[in-house]
Amino acid sequence: MQLNGKVALITGAASGIGKAIAETYARAGAAVAIADINLAAAQATAEEIKAAGGKAVGVAMDVTNEESVNTGTQTAVDALGGLDILISNAGIQIVNPLVDYKFSDWKKMQAIHVDGAFLTTKAALPHMYKDKRGGTVIYMGSVHSHEASKLKSAYVTAKHALLGLCRVLAKEGAEYNVRAHVICPGFVRTPLVEKQIPEQAKELGISEEEVVKRVMLGNTVDGVFTTVDDVAQTALFLAAFPSAALTGQSVIVSHGWYMQ
Ligand code: NAD
Repeated sequence: MQLNGKVALITGAASGIGKAIAETYARAGAAVAIADINLAAAQATAEEIKAAGGKAVGVAMDVTNEESVNTGTQTAVDALGGLDILISNAGIQIVNPLVDYKFSDWKKMQAIHVDGAFLTTKAALPHMYKDKRGGTVIYMGSVHSHEASKLKSAYVTAKHALLGLCRVLAKEGAEYNVRAHVICPGFVRTPLVEKQIPEQAKELGISEEEVVKRVMLGNTVDGVFTTVDDVAQTALFLAAFPSAALTGQSVIVSHGWYMQ
């Protein structure tokens, strides 16, 4: 029970990677707030966790909207009694070549990934700074925080930006015992990725099998997808780590796709 007595708020936790982190944290003893734009799915995830013996609450939150973030964070704090860990994870993907990339889609991508990370951090910090309670903030980056791919200009830009935000927080948060990290997964088969396979096949003029084999897994050491559990175990390790010896780091979980 490495997170006994801790409270975690996880955005985008009604699906995929965020959901796996919520389940893993709950099993490790944390009380978890499942914050998602899809409230029904967030509540269903919270119920599943409670049925398995964990402590959880579903919270409505659109990470692009300051009022929604502030209200959702306060609801979680009131329900669970504080806040020790923020996982800024909500995200979407829109693929298109730069020349055709709609400005409205670009802004939507920055709003969810970058504004969302900023707004959730800003809402969480007063609870962590109070009485130097301390805490851990983890941003869900990507191999695309370090690496570029065709068709993903907005995503690659946004995921690189998270490294900068994390490093500033590592410095500002230190005196309050707050640490910051970015987890950078390779491809994980969640709804976000399943949607991309046919889209990329169409844009690149190759088969879906080739998208998986060449585009998604071609640079890994073993041709294997990263799993939601791989990412959740990394998030557990970082949140449970006992000192600021580890802060401001980007941890790449990608079957060796990118090595730093
Ligand atoms: P997913 O589609 O399974 O889940 C994303 C969740 O975010 C959904 O529950 C959705 O309702 C929620 N969401 C979307 N917009 C939101 C908003 N405005 N406010 C609050 N919630 C919102 O996706 P996933 O694959 O689990 O991705 C989670 C994160 O991991 C994303 O930031 C993604 O970029 C990152 N990531 C994913 C992969 C991958 O291969 N799947 C790889 C690297 C990084």
